[in-house]
Amino acid sequence: MTLADMAADDLAGLVTSLRDEYEQLKGKGLKLDLTRGKPSAEQLDLANALLTLPSQTTADGVDVRNYGGLAGLPEIRSIFAELLGVGLDQIVAGNNSSLTMMHDTLVYHLLRGGLDSPRPWAQEDKVRFLAPVPGYDRHFALLESFGIEMITVPMNDDGPDAEECARLVATDPSIKGMWVVPTYANPTGAVCSQEVAAALAAMPTAAPDFRIFWDNAYAVHHLDGVEAKTADIVSLAQASGHPNRPIMFASTSKITFAGAGVAFLAGSRDTVAWYLENLGNGSIGPDKVNQLAHAQFFGDAAGVRAHMAKHRDIMAPKFAAVGAALEARLGSYDVARWNTPHGGYFVNLDVVPGTASRVVELAKEAGIALTPAGSSFPYGKDPKDENIRLAPSLPPLDEVRTAMEGVALCVLLAAAEAKNT
Ligand code: PLP
Repeated sequence: MTLADMAADDLAGLVTSLRDEYEQLKGKGLKLDLTRGKPSAEQLDLANALLTLPSQTTADGVDVRNYGGLAGLPEIRSIFAELLGVGLDQIVAGNNSSLTMMHDTLVYHLLRGGLDSPRPWAQEDKVRFLAPVPGYDRHFALLESFGIEMITVPMNDDGPDAEECARLVATDPSIKGMWVVPTYANPTGAVCSQEVAAALAAMPTAAPDFRIFWDNAYAVHHLDGVEAKTADIVSLAQASGHPNRPIMFASTSKITFAGAGVAFLAGSRDTVAWYLENLGNGSIGPDKVNQLAHAQFFGDAAGVRAHMAKHRDIMAPKFAAVGAALEARLGSYDVARWNTPHGGYFVNLDVVPGTASRVVELAKEAGIALTPAGSSFPYGKDPKDENIRLAPSLPPLDEVRTAMEGVALCVLLAAAEAKNT
C-alpha cells in the first residue's frame, strides 16, 4: 500500500515501528560513506602498472623528463582524440585535473576575454551562466566563487531543456555560458541526445561569445551494455556557424588514478590555439612522464575501453545493490523516485518533497554519510528539498548494501513522519 493510502492509525503504527528500527540501526555504530564519487581502492589497483612506467623517451625521441610540449604528448592525445571524437589538433593533454582546466578557462575569459568576446567578462556589468539542475556541485561552486550568477534550467532525460535554454540566451547578453555533462550526467545519469546537442549548438545567443562548458567526465564510464555515444558537439557547433561555442573537458581521473591522471581540453582549432596562448604564460609544459605512462599503459583507444570493462565489473554490482535496497524497502510506499543509470558515478534519488535534509540528517546520526541535501543545486539550495545524490563507488559492496538499507529506512521514516504530522 502507498503511504498516501494509509489510514491514520496504520500510519502512526508504521512511524512507531520505523523509529524502533531506526534506534536499532543507530545502535550498530556504523561508519559508512556515500558522499563523493571517488574510485575504490580496488578500481585504483587496476592501473597500478602505471607506477612502473614509462620509458624516458617517446618513439619519436622526445625526452619526457624535460620541459616543453605545451599541448601534451601526441601519443596520449591521439588516444583521447579518438575516444572524444575530435582531431589530434583539436585536443590538449594537460595535468591531472580537468576541473583545473575548467577553472583556468573561466579565468582566462574573465581576465582576458575569449574568442569573439567584445571585452573581458570581468568588465561586464554582470555575467550569468545557465545551470542545468540537478548538476555537479563543483561546477556551481566555481561560478559562485567568481560572482557569476546562475540561472537554473531543468535537466531532462535527454540533456538540458534546450527550449528553455534557447529562450533565455536569445535576449540576455549577460548569459555567457552553460554547463553540460553530456554523458551520464552528475548526478542524474542523463545522456544528452544528438538533437538536444544540435539545438544548443545552433541556438541564437545575445552574447557573441556564449560558451558551452561540455564536461565529458564520464565519456567511457559505462555500467552495462547500453554504451551511450556522446553527441558530437564540436562538429555540430562548427556546422551551425558557432565553432568556438563548445569547450570540451575530460580526464582519466576515473579511468586510472583520480589524483594522478591526465586531463584533456578540446574544441575548435582556434579554441585550442587561444587556450594554449593563455596557458603558455604560466606553463612550460605538462607532466609528460605521466602522459607517456598513460599512453603506454593503454596502448590505444581499444585499450581504454578494455580497461573500463574491468571498472564496470566492480561498479555494476554496487549500483545494482543501491537499486535493490531502495526497491525492497520503498517500492510499495511510493515515497521516492530514483534512476538506474547506464553509466557514470551516481544514483539520483528524489524523496518526498521537504524531507531530503531530514533524510540526510537521520542517516548521519546513524553513521551513514551522504552528500548534503541541496548540493546538486546552485548555492546548495534545492527549492523542493527532495534531491539526494548517492555515490556508491568508494565503499566495498557489502558496505554499500548495509549503507543503502539504512538510507532506505531513513527515507521511509522521514516520509512517514512528514505525513503523520
Ligand atoms: N566533472 C564532473 C562532472 C565530475 O563529476 C568530476 C568529479 O567528480 C570532475 C569533473 C572532476 O574531474 P577531474 O578529476 O578531472 O578534475
